[in-house]
Amino acid sequence: MRILFVSSEVRPFAMTGGLGDVTGSLPKYLADLGHDVRLIMPRYGWISTDSMKRHHHPLGVPTGVGEKWCALWEGVLPETSVPVYFIENNELFDRGGLYGQDGYDYGDNLLRFTVLSRGALQTCHYLGWYPDVIHVHDWQTSLIPVYLNTVERHTHLGRSATVLTIHNLGYQGRFSAEQFPVTGLPWELYNHLGLEAYGAVNLLKGGIYHSTLINTVSPTYAREIQTPEAGHGLDGVLRDRAADLSGILNGIDTRSWNPATDPHIPHNFSADSPEGKALCRQSLHEEFGLDLDPKAPLVIMITRLAQQKGIDLVAEAMERIMDLGVRFLMLGGGAPWAEEFFSSLKSRWPGRYGAFIGFDPPLSRRMYAGADMILVPSRYEPCGLTQMYSMRYGTIPVARRVGGLADSITDADQGSDATGFLFDHYTADGLLWALERAVDMFRNSPEEFARLRHNAMTRDFSWDRAAGTYTELYSRARTMRNGIR
Ligand code: ADP
Repeated sequence: MRILFVSSEVRPFAMTGGLGDVTGSLPKYLADLGHDVRLIMPRYGWISTDSMKRHHHPLGVPTGVGEKWCALWEGVLPETSVPVYFIENNELFDRGGLYGQDGYDYGDNLLRFTVLSRGALQTCHYLGWYPDVIHVHDWQTSLIPVYLNTVERHTHLGRSATVLTIHNLGYQGRFSAEQFPVTGLPWELYNHLGLEAYGAVNLLKGGIYHSTLINTVSPTYAREIQTPEAGHGLDGVLRDRAADLSGILNGIDTRSWNPATDPHIPHNFSADSPEGKALCRQSLHEEFGLDLDPKAPLVIMITRLAQQKGIDLVAEAMERIMDLGVRFLMLGGGAPWAEEFFSSLKSRWPGRYGAFIGFDPPLSRRMYAGADMILVPSRYEPCGLTQMYSMRYGTIPVARRVGGLADSITDADQGSDATGFLFDHYTADGLLWALERAVDMFRNSPEEFARLRHNAMTRDFSWDRAAGTYTELYSRARTMRNGIR
């Protein structure tokens, strides 16, 4: 099958979270299954074109505010031969951030992602390469299914099926109604069965209505988003399309995330020879000036400092967490209040608490490798990757039973294949209840804790499983697009 991914984030070129992780990983596994997979993304200013090929013809991308001229660069996904096409327009994409800066979204995001979406389709025309399926991701590329059903319906691209993956329903691409003409689409599409929601443009809603099939990144999240509590105002739309909506748990790139070979961690280890983990633990204590104590578990958080991640709960529970006699390390960036708060705690508990405010992937690996437990108390969690990385590195998750956390972690009370500790209620008490259980097992039943660790490290989180399920989804989408639909 010819499969095109279009995304605003692809690791390692650009990423703010799980979306980039998925689009940087899944294509490799699909290529291994024999598919012709290609990717299209923007060329942000920091992406070097040194080892890329420049296509001679520029792309003229139609928008409602005139044609935007873009250069087209071609590279590959590292360590693969999967082509990645980069759409370059420096006025739109050569900026400090992906979507905004200093806490503010860029004012022209509708134009920027119109150009990415329409530019991707122009790239197919330019290459004469017509995918069977275009896999789009979140609001940033949700206009693609709309274009395919309208302005591109009778071109070569009209037969391409679309699959929309919702990585996070909390981000929908909302813009004021007066900006709608930027898309170049006719006003008829600005209605409640299309691109309009609550009196504004809503790109994700348009994508939900116009895609051939829709999926999210875990089965539990696929159910949750059809309820008013987790539907972010789009639950009705999603219920309308329930028959075409499914959940596929993300995998992780187990080649890159392998404690037995990871060059970023001070000592390698594996489930069957875990000794190196204790050395990683020791060196992480040293790196942050923490006092090493065999009875004091090292608890970490690696997260965007955003409300979704339950940082308000952690802030509220922090005194009581430290009263449990643990060591704590925070790695995160985001909300200014939280950056300041979690940074200020360093002087409150010297030798017991450390924090690094910022985004630092190599440090995240040293932390996954050196910690005993990780807190993931999310308000909601479509899939979540941190809990999978931490399990792979033998760090036990203490997490809320929602979305992909519920689908990937087995609670200590749920039998012999347990991998972590879950709580239901979004309260500081709920979080502490689960953490106390974890600390108690760590201190008083080390053999049981080691069993959990072994289970966690040997759980299969590889993409192979998910890549097979995605292939079935693509086949179904292709049949639907060219058959009855
Ligand atoms: P989300 O996509 O909602 O942020 P996920 O758990 O799906 O959450 O993915 C988060 C990814 O970002 C993981 O790969 C995690 O290791 C990484 N990450 C989050 N915060 C940081 C940080 N401050 N430094 C380095 N990596 C981070």
